Amino acid sequence: MKAAVLRKGSPTLEVLDVPTPAPGPGQALVEIAACGMCHTDLHYLDHGVSTFKAPPIILGHEPAGTVAALSPDVTNVSEGDRVLIPAVLSCGRCSYCRAGRENLCDHLAMLGNHIDGAYAEYVVVPANELVPVPDDLSLEQVSVVADAVSTPYHAVTKRAKVRPGETVAVVGCGGVGLNVVQCAAVAGASVIAVDINDDRLTIARELGASETLNPTTTDRPDKALRKLTDGGVDVAFEVIGKPDTIGLAFNALRRGGRVCVIGFSHEPVELAASKIMFYELEVIGSLGCGGGEYPEIIRLIEEGRLKLDPIVSGTIPLEQINDGFDKLRAGQGIRWVVTP
Ligand code: NAD
Repeated sequence: MKAAVLRKGSPTLEVLDVPTPAPGPGQALVEIAACGMCHTDLHYLDHGVSTFKAPPIILGHEPAGTVAALSPDVTNVSEGDRVLIPAVLSCGRCSYCRAGRENLCDHLAMLGNHIDGAYAEYVVVPANELVPVPDDLSLEQVSVVADAVSTPYHAVTKRAKVRPGETVAVVGCGGVGLNVVQCAAVAGASVIAVDINDDRLTIARELGASETLNPTTTDRPDKALRKLTDGGVDVAFEVIGKPDTIGLAFNALRRGGRVCVIGFSHEPVELAASKIMFYELEVIGSLGCGGGEYPEIIRLIEEGRLKLDPIVSGTIPLEQINDGFDKLRAGQGIRWVVTP
């Protein structure tokens, strides 16, 4: 099969012929229809972040496709079923999984990080992780759910626990942040979208933001957010992964507010401990999504309450995957999907 492989220290992926994997006990072979391209891959390519599995590794963690072959012991899916593959796979047995926190699993395996991913014609995964996709949803669109929608859904509903009537700022409205905007709007919040890119702010309005702020238009975006909300927001999400913007989100909170960090940064961040104490602020992290949350997300998409049209910018053939990463680096489009 063809697959896009990361080699040690390379800033590009190489499209190679590699052996097609075979399903072992409990596993399914899925023919990939599409795999969303995520900013996280740029951390491996450009920012020196290591994958857990040492290269060579096939990247890609937002896949959807069709079941092509099964181990004989699998009963939950059949060949030909249309499925979504969660970005993060869990063991189902450890104390975290048993407590419903599968995304913190002791044996967590992320596609294209701990194990080979889905910028490939096929991938093998545990069959019990597969999420059925209704016939009326396009696999190309649904592929981005596996991270760009599921991560925001988890952050909004399970971590920050956004409630109707709350004010929410979303700092960073790229592929992930725009979905935080729409998940928070669906949860009943008044959403302020914050981004340096005005096109993204326009899409944020389409997805439910009632206000927008471009931080380049003001010296003190934190102050501007506090002014817009009469003292500060109830919840601020950081969806970029920079110490400065984590600081901006934190400083935009009202007393008793929650900051939820979704963006990835390995740099240290300074937050005023006095404010955390004195204003009873909460600093919350959010990682991926639990497997049990996917059916809820698929239902919201089927009902038209979560929208994928504005998120998916177009398709990229596997052979041109490096052009897709250039688009991501240049901030063109929202979410591109690779079609192997
Ligand atoms: P993206 O590049 O599509 O979006 C980033 C957005 O931030 C862009 O719209 C950009 O214009 C905006 N931005 C950049 N600098 C800014 C600034 N100073 N002020 C305001 N806006 C600014 O990236 P993405 O795919 O949406 O990913 C965002 C982050 O989320 C990354 O760090 C990624 O690794 C992380 N991520 C985390 C999880 C998780 O489980 N927590 C899952 C997926 C992605």
